[in-house]
Amino acid sequence: MSGRLLVNGRIWEGEMPAEWREEVLLLPLSVVAERLGARLEWHACGEELEIEKDGSKLTISASEKTALWQGEKVPTGGPIHLKQGMIMVPVSLICRYFHLTWTYVEDVDTVVLSRQEPGLKGKRILLDPGHGGADPGGVGGDLVEAELNWDVAWRLAELLRLSGAEVEYTRLQGETMSVSRRVDGAIQAGADLLISIHHNSFMHAELNGTETYWYHNWSAHQLAKSVQNHLLEELETANRGVREAAFYLLRHVPVVPILVKVGFVTGSHDNAVLADRWMRERAALGIFRGIREYTEGSASRL
Ligand SMILES: [Zn+2]
Repeated sequence: MSGRLLVNGRIWEGEMPAEWREEVLLLPLSVVAERLGARLEWHACGEELEIEKDGSKLTISASEKTALWQGEKVPTGGPIHLKQGMIMVPVSLICRYFHLTWTYVEDVDTVVLSRQEPGLKGKRILLDPGHGGADPGGVGGDLVEAELNWDVAWRLAELLRLSGAEVEYTRLQGETMSVSRRVDGAIQAGADLLISIHHNSFMHAELNGTETYWYHNWSAHQLAKSVQNHLLEELETANRGVREAAFYLLRHVPVVPILVKVGFVTGSHDNAVLADRWMRERAALGIFRGIREYTEGSASRL
């Protein structure tokens, strides 16, 4: 396995030769530690690696398969071994040391490492995957909007939860749900933010691009701008702008709401982007960073 790595909301470029052993995910300690700003020191002809960050020292011995934390032996959480000169250690050990949480997104072969984000910790975020069930939304070739909305929403939920947010959905996968019931659900949920996820469709293939909607509320405008910017950064789709529109949902929920239209399922350019799982992961990543940027800003305003 040589998958991708996301760290704190960004894609890490370059090789990440992760591997699974005994059902434990292993990462090369030196590569991760270096990128996370630790000081590295090799001993015992490359069989022992000491890393240090913020006064905390972790020493891994590949020959003895041990981990010492400030000189004390600690559980390794799985196998340790040498692979092509790199000391492979369980991801859980790396996360404990660097105060990160992690998950593995199997369908895009991606390891996600995340810190707890102060702006997101304990924030209640309601995700609204548009359409669903009897209502497919827009359709373009093999792409069905309701399914894409759900797909981006669960990827986003993973990223948000890893960073400390509490996430709920307005509907289940495949469930039919009217907009007025979504609004009722949002009122009951009493969340801080509502992110409605849609995709566009049109009768002509030349319409492509990403747009984000808000209505009436200054905070929602800020949130929409951040999300739109980070979505464009990830997807490189056409910028159709941050728009104000009096959608029923945006008018009636008692939280800060936005509505994202990631791209056109019918678009000559967007269709291929949206068909690619990795690009949908990146769409979620862009929305995630937009939300994070907004919550950081709103925290500092308090
Ligand atoms: Zn829609």
